[in-house]
Amino acid sequence: MTQRVYKKLPSTIAIDGPAASGKTTIGNLIANKFGYICLDTGIMYRAVALQALDEGINVFDEEAVSELAERIDIEIRPTAADDERQFDVIIDGIDHTWDIRSPQVNQNVSEVSVYPRVRAAMTKLQRQIAEQGKIVMVGRDIGTVVLPDADLKIYLDASVDVRAERRYFEDLGRGKKVCLEEIMESLQHRDEIDSNRAVAPLKPAQDAVLINSDDMTVFQVIETILDLFSEYQP
Ligand code: C5P
Repeated sequence: MTQRVYKKLPSTIAIDGPAASGKTTIGNLIANKFGYICLDTGIMYRAVALQALDEGINVFDEEAVSELAERIDIEIRPTAADDERQFDVIIDGIDHTWDIRSPQVNQNVSEVSVYPRVRAAMTKLQRQIAEQGKIVMVGRDIGTVVLPDADLKIYLDASVDVRAERRYFEDLGRGKKVCLEEIMESLQHRDEIDSNRAVAPLKPAQDAVLINSDDMTVFQVIETILDLFSEYQP
């Protein structure tokens, strides 16, 4: 891991990494610790995929999916619900918080995320939200494309076996019917497309702090990140 000590609290924190690497969990914990907001940008691409499926748009129809991404209304707002959700995700006025996590969306989201116009529309929204500062933004291309000037960039990695196992137990805990092999295949499918697309592929920014969490608990990852601020004086 890159050794670096930050003397100032970063205003913008980018966390990138492959599917199910723990980005959102870590992002939310860091955001809570600093009193920042955490934006999981995967929600936006999932919203586009879900809406395409709901409207009967073929996810391989680049023009139709791009047009959808440019008109879709995605609202991510604080929740009053008591069902483990972090936010309410409202798409064109309807609450789809859990629908965006369906196996169908998992299967199609990386396909819609390769299209340049889809990425441009989502990147624009993400930058607008980031303008307020005090934000942890989680995704695949935050440190490389969306916020190349982020004050702190973290690339959170883990082997596919570890990620699949963690997702398996997470889903099991939510009472979902799950199969480890299917989860593994779905993660590999998305990793493959996300890492090899022409625009904004998944990769660490050159100046990112790399953390592999294979042998780490959530607590240890948080400690590692907070250690970067050991010389910070409020
Ligand atoms: O983070 P999550 O797994 O929910 O993201 C779902 C999908 O959205 C990813 O597999 C990827 O295809 C896409 N995505 C992206 N760029 C981001 C965030 C997510 O392409 N910044």
